[in-house]
Amino acid sequence: MLTVGLTGGIGSGKTVVSDRFASYGVPVIDTDVLARELVEPGQPALAEIVAEFGPDCLDDGGRLNRAVLRERVFIDDAGRRRLEAILHPRIRALARVRIAALNAPYSLLVIPLLAETGMTDLVDRVLVVDVAEAEQVRRVMARDGIDEAQARRILAAQANRSRRLALADDVLENFGDLAELDQRIADLHQYYLRLATVSLS
Ligand code: ATP
Repeated sequence: MLTVGLTGGIGSGKTVVSDRFASYGVPVIDTDVLARELVEPGQPALAEIVAEFGPDCLDDGGRLNRAVLRERVFIDDAGRRRLEAILHPRIRALARVRIAALNAPYSLLVIPLLAETGMTDLVDRVLVVDVAEAEQVRRVMARDGIDEAQARRILAAQANRSRRLALADDVLENFGDLAELDQRIADLHQYYLRLATVSLS
């Protein structure tokens, strides 16, 4: 089965895009969702995080307090690398298991931080949702109710646009309105179905 990796910067439109592919019946696996599953109470990764970063990473109910952890690793590169060493191998393994269980011509694996994590080996092709940085900032401010400085701070912590585009086999331009985006996705869906057929024969 063909696996298409979907990535894009914050607010580029990954969720809108993956929802649209899902509406065509394409199975969608999101590595952010896998990451959340892996830190549920009782999961070994959560115990490792607590051992590494301390019990104040948990809320009163014993669940991971993502805001505390995010704040801690945002300014601490070594801490971020230790967190990644706990999570990334598990995310990879779980993604492989979930993909292997699918039965479809092709599937979409959403990897928001593809450029940062180098998880390209999990996918056959990379689809980058591309948008100008100024538009990313506008969309994130509108969606999350944050100010421009906060939006730019998050953008600056991610790989930049050209680094993401360098990984792309396919680029989905999301500069226009949602109707335009829908048309591009419809075309890409047909393209991936054809590719999946070719790779089967
Ligand atoms: P994140 O990285 O934060 O998960 P994302 O890449 O999944 O973000 P979305 O949540 O899909 O991005 O889109 C960001 C915001 O921009 C949403 O509010 C979405 O509705 C809006 N949006 C996306 N594409 C368009 C578009 N073409 N026209 C108008 N609004 C759009």
